[in-house]
Amino acid sequence: MNLIEFRNFSLIKYNTLRLKSVAEVCYFPLNMEGLLEAVVKTQNRQRIFLGNGSNILLTKEFYDETYAFIITTMMNNIERNGAEIILDAGVTLHDLAWFAIDNEIGGYEFCEDIPGTAGGALIMNAGQWQWTISQYVRWVDVVDLDSLVITRIVPDSDFFQYRNSKFNQMNVVIARAGLKADKGDYREILERMLEFKKERYFKQPRNYPNAGSVFKRPTKGDETFFVWKLFDEVDLRGYQVGGARVSDKHPGFIVNVDHATCYDCVALIQECKNRVKNHFVIDLELEWRVIE
Ligand SMILES: Cc1cc2nc3c(=O)[nH]c(=O)nc-3n(C[C@H](O)[C@H](O)[C@H](O)COP(=O)(O)OP(=O)(O)OC[C@H]3O[C@@H](n4cnc5c(N)ncnc54)[C@H](O)[C@@H]3O)c2cc1C
Repeated sequence: MNLIEFRNFSLIKYNTLRLKSVAEVCYFPLNMEGLLEAVVKTQNRQRIFLGNGSNILLTKEFYDETYAFIITTMMNNIERNGAEIILDAGVTLHDLAWFAIDNEIGGYEFCEDIPGTAGGALIMNAGQWQWTISQYVRWVDVVDLDSLVITRIVPDSDFFQYRNSKFNQMNVVIARAGLKADKGDYREILERMLEFKKERYFKQPRNYPNAGSVFKRPTKGDETFFVWKLFDEVDLRGYQVGGARVSDKHPGFIVNVDHATCYDCVALIQECKNRVKNHFVIDLELEWRVIE
């Protein structure tokens, strides 16, 4: 078996905001063959590819059969091949980090606490502080959704940008990747990993469901701004619509404090954008992908 199909499938466990939403058509490929099968079966539908759903906003409570969700989390093979880690799109960054440490491979400590998959990380060029996944990529295999051909991409130096990549201009789904495997010291890696985790838990609101930073850091002229500082100046810290709230602990996050709906989140985001635009003349851009 290469592919599992569900009908009327609850997406609550497949978006980290834990918004209630149902997909009439949903596929879980188990491997590359399954992914190709899913792509072929859904040619007449709007395909939504998901990893762990940790960077998305579902805007509908029901996605009818004109959509097809293809969730990669069951494509999760990871192995070492000499100087490379080869991993499927659905491998979580958490598992990547622990695989690396077990194999005394350094560099992936920043991944351990980012709750996405390799596919989602490559699309977004996920990262933390000075590290991004792009620094470790050697090649990426994608399925071209027009030709249904598997193509190997070796990214050049401007392929990845801040929380963005050229994958977003291509009609592809990421299937697997080859990453660098440079030697590291087990104890040093472990210490760094735990230190990062501690710092993140200290700063981020982990007591409520969320989907990480909501907006990209905006720029105006030569200046880059922290979203949370802008929000504090326009009294958005703690501001709530329905069950969705701008986090009191870290206003760069929106948290689901009480059965928030898709519509609560959409309305709260709009209010944040309006206040920042009216007060600072800055257009906020979402880091989240909106599933419309
Ligand atoms: C508590 C918390 C902390 C976070 N911290 C960070 C952080 O420090 N740094 C950071 O960068 N991000 C962070 N994030 C955001 C998020 O975890 C990352 O962006 C992650 O890489 C998203 O991966 P995902 O598998 O969840 O993607 P999803 O949310 O499932 O999808 C995101 C986008 O990628 C697309 N996509 C997913 N898989 C594929 C694929 N195989 N092929 C093609 N398209 C695909 C989806 O269609 C969607 O457009 C955080 C989120 C949370 C909840």
